[in-house]
Amino acid sequence: MSGKVLLIDPIATNRISLGSILRAAHYQISAVSGLSEPAPLLNETVFDAVVIALNLPLDLVKLKAIPALSNVPAIACQQASDDPTRLALLHAGASEILTAPVSRKILLTRLRSLLRARNASAELQLREDTNRALGFHEAAPAFQSKSTGIVVCNDPQSCPSFLAKLQSIQSLSFSLRSDKQLFDPPPTQQGNSCFILCLTEKTARHALNNLVEMRAHSATRHAAVIVAAPHSCADAAMDALDLGANDVLFDSYGTEEISFRIAAQIQHKKTNDRLRATLQAGLNAAVTDSLTGLYNRRYALTYLSHLFDKSLRSGTELSLIMVDLDHFKRVNDHYGHAAGDAVLCAVAKTLKGAIRASDLLARLGGEEFVVILPDTPADKAQGLAQRLCGLIRNLRVEAAPRQITASIGLSAIGPDRPSTGLNPRFEHLLQEADKALYAAKSRGRDQVSYFTPQAA
Ligand code: GH3
Ligand code: MG
Ligand code: MG
Repeated sequence: MSGKVLLIDPIATNRISLGSILRAAHYQISAVSGLSEPAPLLNETVFDAVVIALNLPLDLVKLKAIPALSNVPAIACQQASDDPTRLALLHAGASEILTAPVSRKILLTRLRSLLRARNASAELQLREDTNRALGFHEAAPAFQSKSTGIVVCNDPQSCPSFLAKLQSIQSLSFSLRSDKQLFDPPPTQQGNSCFILCLTEKTARHALNNLVEMRAHSATRHAAVIVAAPHSCADAAMDALDLGANDVLFDSYGTEEISFRIAAQIQHKKTNDRLRATLQAGLNAAVTDSLTGLYNRRYALTYLSHLFDKSLRSGTELSLIMVDLDHFKRVNDHYGHAAGDAVLCAVAKTLKGAIRASDLLARLGGEEFVVILPDTPADKAQGLAQRLCGLIRNLRVEAAPRQITASIGLSAIGPDRPSTGLNPRFEHLLQEADKALYAAKSRGRDQVSYFTPQAA
């Protein structure tokens, strides 16, 4: 992984040694001795991460006050620090705290993990911004307070002090399970929960395998997964980060730091879950008609084009039914636009109830609908079209108490009736259904007409 890293350390030899570790890992480095460096560098360069050697916790506060750096993940490197100092640094915005002299593996792994998390969130955020611009944005879900930790530990005797720390966290309720129960359904709402995998020297390989399984399993792919490990297993713990763990809790961390880190990961997961849900809603909104909930024109035409090519290749039948409500303008004129909308929804529901699951119904626009019928010969489609015509004729809508009728045009391709034109395209099938529909209109409406080349 590469990126631009700002390295801040007052000691020149440290800048050289940390810089060479980062450069060897293909990061671009800007190394400075402090925050009083030339303003353009700090204010105008876009950095992906900051590694800052702290003399005073206040340096981190100053760093986070620089607008261009306030949201950039920062790894704070400190001489041995006590629990309150570490906690203060996390609260001040440190993404990670490393103890000097910094281990090469720990620095690079933590940096990779932070950049991965940031890139994933940035990507989802970008898509949300696009959805928002298109008007597909969804409201944030309600806040849920108590979090749940699912602690995966085959031998609770091996980590009593860690479990005691978890127990003392007020805002967290946790349940223990063995790795055999890894994929059991979560005890509560998944949104507010995280997995904590206990890793010991004896279980390290097994725990890493479980982590890989979790990242491959659809139910846990996006779960917040935190690894709890003793310092003696730092190497395996760093491997866990590379394999997709979101954070590592070392046994030396105080209860409050553990609580803070769990809460941060659950919050991060909730944000990403919400962004993913918005993305899904945006995808749905892009292919559905907001009034009737049916597929929209864009989706129907794309589907028809694929199905048309497939039917031509395989020589199977394909029929198309186009429905246009008669004198619909009069419904609006007599009863108002809202009543017109109610009629459109009622017609959509009626049509939907009458077709097979394999048929595709879409609203092409206005008061025009289409039914695409794969593997259906024209005579069968004609039967259905007659039935749809009758169902609409008998439909009663309270908001618009008048008879509603529709004109229906039908076209089809199949071995008996290949598509017209030298270079058959799905648009021809649409044009043919359209011509048939207008033939039905001109013959007096409220009827079905089948496209025949002679009639064209
Ligand atoms: P014809 O029998 O020849 O099809 O006549 P028509 O009145 O149905 O056709 P025309 O194309 O003249 O008018 C269609 C009307 O459909 C006009 C428009 O206001 C109305 N319409 C289109 N979309 C909507 C909608 O989303 N809601 C409502 N209420 N009306 C719509
Ligand atoms: Mg129309
Ligand atoms: Mg009409």
